[in-house]
Amino acid sequence: MDTYSGPVFEMARHQFETIANYLEIPESLRARLLYPKRAITIACPVNLDSGTTAVFQGFRVQHHLTLGPTKGGTRFATTVDMGEVAALAIWMSWKCALAGLPYGGAKGGVTVDVAKLSGRELEALSRRYMQEMIPFVGPHIDVMAPDMGTNEQVMAWFMDTYSMYQGKTVSEIVTGKPVSSGGTEGRREATGLGVVHLIARAMERLAMQMKGSRCIIQGFGNVGSVAAEELDRRGARIVGVSDHSASYFDRRGLDVARLLAHVRRTGKLEGFSCELLLNPALMLVQECDVLVPAATERVIDGPVASNLKCRILAEGANGPTTPDADQILDRRRSEVFVIPDILCNSGGVIVSYFEWVQGLQRLFWDREAVLSRLFGKLDESFEKVVRKAEKDQVSNRTAAMALGVQTVLEAKQTRGLFP
Ligand code: GLU
Repeated sequence: MDTYSGPVFEMARHQFETIANYLEIPESLRARLLYPKRAITIACPVNLDSGTTAVFQGFRVQHHLTLGPTKGGTRFATTVDMGEVAALAIWMSWKCALAGLPYGGAKGGVTVDVAKLSGRELEALSRRYMQEMIPFVGPHIDVMAPDMGTNEQVMAWFMDTYSMYQGKTVSEIVTGKPVSSGGTEGRREATGLGVVHLIARAMERLAMQMKGSRCIIQGFGNVGSVAAEELDRRGARIVGVSDHSASYFDRRGLDVARLLAHVRRTGKLEGFSCELLLNPALMLVQECDVLVPAATERVIDGPVASNLKCRILAEGANGPTTPDADQILDRRRSEVFVIPDILCNSGGVIVSYFEWVQGLQRLFWDREAVLSRLFGKLDESFEKVVRKAEKDQVSNRTAAMALGVQTVLEAKQTRGLFP
């Protein structure tokens, strides 16, 4: 299967092989579990404001259809290619299975620098992407959501485009929509709040105090900024933050309310301060209690893992830690407590599932009901993961992935092979 290549796909493949060896999955079942069921690539022509037409390449990978429809975000970024999208779809499968959601994993995206598009161009691209995907998606086939470079507004355009072609409103075709267009209370904040809920759980186990703890957050998008706000609200000290434009560090604690206001105004961290700037390469290895990588894949490699000086590594991003780094962190298990990505950032897809269920039933819950159900599900997953890690003497990542992979494996085995 040479459709899938590149460092991110290799990372997902390597992780899967490690778990398949650990679970002693027979060779004959491995390819069936790993390789995506469907991969679609499309060309999206868009008329630009300049009067020319650009063609953007779009992707959607549906990993497996064994447990229900596929589910996953849509990424608009320059890094997007088939290998990255496939890896992200595979991780979504293990994430959904660990949380007990009736979904396979999916992911999609467009290779584009969104910062270079006007509002009108972004709308045209979003609508064209969904229009090209209509033959391949549906509320019981594949349900999209936001990811890097997309947001509630893009989901509203996706939903509207799909609905206009059906001649009726089909709000359950995407999740992460604005509440005014059939979205759910709590979805926008769900991933960041989930990350902080799990950090608090880890702190309880490690007899640490949230109040006054030193936290560093890489990435200040929908996950990082919400996590920073919630950690600050709970009395933690945010000593470091960064995004693609700037990194700031202050041992005494940064002013989170001012950082949020600055980003709301300017769209990025750059320009917040001249005195507090730090070399971005050094951010992840500063001494702290909690490190939250909430940006992108493969930022913690072997050398970074050897130098980490945090007590808790809470993976808000998908795939931030390479397999090399994992081997090192496995040896440093008593020093660094890892909350692996498929557990740590699962709050987003859990509340997406709630949004889908509410949309199908046309019965909507209030914010309190959404969040208490979210935290209940996260607690269940956290307990399962740490219990398995302790019992089998393995890392939290191995335990989490093994639980996810095992669920998909069992479903495939009981359903059998057709025909
Ligand atoms: N893009 C998010 C993720 O990586 C959310 C996916 C969803 O809500 O379906 O988990």
